[in-house]
Amino acid sequence: MRYHFQYCQAAAVIITALLLTGCVFSLLPDSGLPSGGEPGPDSGSAPPPSGPELVVPLTDGFDFPVGDQNGKGWGVTGYGFLDWSSYSGTWHPGEDWNMYGSPLADWGQPVYSVAHGIVRFSGFNTAQGNIVMIEHHLPDGRTVWSQYAHLEQRWVAEGEIVGRRQIIGTVGRGPNNRFSPHLHFEIKIKYLPQNGWPRTNGQAWPKAKVREYWAHPSEFIKAHRPAK
Ligand SMILES: [Zn+2]
Repeated sequence: MRYHFQYCQAAAVIITALLLTGCVFSLLPDSGLPSGGEPGPDSGSAPPPSGPELVVPLTDGFDFPVGDQNGKGWGVTGYGFLDWSSYSGTWHPGEDWNMYGSPLADWGQPVYSVAHGIVRFSGFNTAQGNIVMIEHHLPDGRTVWSQYAHLEQRWVAEGEIVGRRQIIGTVGRGPNNRFSPHLHFEIKIKYLPQNGWPRTNGQAWPKAKVREYWAHPSEFIKAHRPAK
């Protein structure tokens, strides 16, 4: 009993000494202290809302996702909408945007939200790399989703309200830099999750079914330009 009391006393003295010197933090397996690494692409953006759903502002028109609001200096020089993609064995449900000039010129260039909306997905998938998907509520009651893939960085978080022309990330090369830099851009007119792709059990959907879910991105934007 006497021995046990002394042991406890000694242990208390040691712990007190460690606390006073601050050494105890380095003994804990996970102190929760910041590790001091590089800021992640999401740092600085607001956390997703935990309370009632934020009010999503109605769209006041759509702009192009790269370049100026008219897409100046950029073009769909990769796969266009409903081109046959031999890479994925499907009809391509979006547009591949590149900056004119050197093939690497667009790497790291800003990508803009095409309209007001709310971020429904901001994350990574192994097929397309970093993806942002934004839900847009049109004044006529329709809902559409714009999706931006192969991003180098994502600057927005799920649940965040974004404005038209807000930078939501940068142009990248997809997972493990597998592609030459470009923006893969889609507009969905019927909901599909971020990893939705026009294929079932390895079979490509027919074009007519792809059209049920996706709009031609450039034509959709041209038909919904903001008022001057
Ligand atoms: Zn693409």
